[in-house]
Amino acid sequence: MYFWTKIFNIMNCPQMNCNCIDCIWKRIQNCYRDKIFTTKRGRRFCISDLNSEKIILSGVEETQNTLFPIKKRDLQEAIICRQNNNPPNQYPSVATSYKWGILNDPDIWPY
Ligand SMILES: [Zn+2]
Repeated sequence: MYFWTKIFNIMNCPQMNCNCIDCIWKRIQNCYRDKIFTTKRGRRFCISDLNSEKIILSGVEETQNTLFPIKKRDLQEAIICRQNNNPPNQYPSVATSYKWGILNDPDIWPY
């Protein structure tokens, strides 16, 4: 049983074809420089930097204040909300509208 579970995991994630946190993170790494994300209310933002543990966000509009960084494990906690199509205010913790904007982008959540 363990053997087959392991094979299943190996086959799924290196191909970047599911919505687990590692596949999502890989897609973010691949395309964030070219992307402007949008919150549900239409505020635009981009990812100005990232590493293996967190994302740094920047607002596109000049009126926006400094934005929160988003940790990988916080984005992971929000996956269940995206699976349930929850509105931003039901996402956990801080930066909820930005987590919603990232996870609702079709390049980041394609399936
Ligand atoms: Zn995956």
